[in-house]
Amino acid sequence: MRKALIVGLLTLSVASSAAADQDTLPPWTHLRPLSPSAIDLVWESMSRSSIVEDLLRQLEETGVVVYLTDSMPGAVAGPVSHLVYLSNDETTRYLLVRIDRWRSTPFERIALLAHELQHALEVAAAPEVRDAQGLAKLYRRIGWENQKDKFETEAAQMVGAQVRKQLTKGPDRRRAALSVATP
Ligand SMILES: [Zn+2]
Repeated sequence: MRKALIVGLLTLSVASSAAADQDTLPPWTHLRPLSPSAIDLVWESMSRSSIVEDLLRQLEETGVVVYLTDSMPGAVAGPVSHLVYLSNDETTRYLLVRIDRWRSTPFERIALLAHELQHALEVAAAPEVRDAQGLAKLYRRIGWENQKDKFETEAAQMVGAQVRKQLTKGPDRRRAALSVATP
């Protein structure tokens, strides 16, 4: 079952890479968007939120690779984003982040991406996590169980809230930063 999922994802990844213009792929190797719309989400998030950019920079320094999809087929209830453990080899652990684009606004998706990237960094900081059971154990330690097998942390909630705040300050964060720096 798990093997089938991974093969499916890799096929999807190759297909979307081939479809996308190489120049338009985001410059990260540890975040791998699996569709053109997921690629757009990464670019949009980077241009609008320095917090997301900082999280991505931190992720690059880890042994964790995050696949990103913005579709959650069949989901009509429950969380609009989540992170799951896929697999690992000797040097790298692979996670999957799903964000449901049908149940979230473009604005909210940026905050959700930041939230899930924070979770990915939490996993990166816990090298003992090597499977789904290890993931659950980590989150029982650093967070709390919302519903059965669904966990949350204060840090991820806080990062999401910070990004929402940043986005409401205006679309151009560079201009916003400049006006803050200029008395
Ligand atoms: Zn969360």
